[in-house]
Amino acid sequence: MFPDINHIALDRLGKINGSTIPVSVLRTDLIHPVISGNKWFKLRFYLDEAVKQGYKTIGSFGGAYSNHIVALAAAARMNGLSSIGIIRGEADDSPTLQEAREWGMKTIPVSRQSFKVREEIISAFPNTNEIYWVDEGGYGILGAKGASTILSVMDCSGFTHILCACGTGTMAAGLIMSAAEHQNIIGISVLKNNLSLEESIAGLLPVALHKKIKSLHDYHFGGYAKHPKQLIAYMNDFHQRTHIPSDIVYTSKLFYAAEDLIQKGYFEENANVLLIHSGGLQGNRSLSKNTLCF
Ligand SMILES: *Cc1c(COP(=O)(O)O)cnc(C)c1O
Repeated sequence: MFPDINHIALDRLGKINGSTIPVSVLRTDLIHPVISGNKWFKLRFYLDEAVKQGYKTIGSFGGAYSNHIVALAAAARMNGLSSIGIIRGEADDSPTLQEAREWGMKTIPVSRQSFKVREEIISAFPNTNEIYWVDEGGYGILGAKGASTILSVMDCSGFTHILCACGTGTMAAGLIMSAAEHQNIIGISVLKNNLSLEESIAGLLPVALHKKIKSLHDYHFGGYAKHPKQLIAYMNDFHQRTHIPSDIVYTSKLFYAAEDLIQKGYFEENANVLLIHSGGLQGNRSLSKNTLCF
């Protein structure tokens, strides 16, 4: 099955928790069970480019539960490319990596130490010139260009505020590129103290758009992939109320942030809020069974 943007839905949740602000969710998670959400958008132009330039192999970097790694493995296979995943840390046996290998990816675990020096891995790699390398998380201009097509799958012009979860900030940059003048893009950082996030987003945008960069740093719940009981309880509660699944790394923190901001009166009265469900349920595979009700 190929990713299909026709599966994307717009869930209008209406005014949640007695607030006056309507909230909708753009369900890019419905594109495909593996290449879900923003990963497909971020990868699409890298894949096109790799194929166009005649590469046979595409390589990238990520952790053992990386949505990006498994999405790349599947997308590479569908585009007739082989794939290589350089994996952070020694663990090499997560369900995510097993699935990536089923899609034909060669996974290569490296120590956390050497994972940090990407250039050395790339330059030392055998036949490295024959590999189309993509940055971790798909960070880069082509990734942002891909993400800039998210808002065109549907008429999103009526929304005043568009919120998304941020890892590398590539998706946020793409949303800023494609947003209308009156629309505010707000990134919710899922990393703790990632103070270079705004700089990373700016690096993908023309200077004229830098003033549109806005990110919030209070909703990381302890840091990347940290998921205290309070967050798990919220995910179950949110699913019961909306039937929308979320993941411990990204979208749960986005949904929580949105509801918290609404409750705190962050948005003006006539705001119309859109949340980007960016997909990616891989992180949930690290939880023990029955932790989540979906
Ligand atoms: C990767 C990912 C993100 C982060 O996207 P960036 O472009 O790296 O900021 C957000 N949500 C989900 C579900 C993801 O898998």
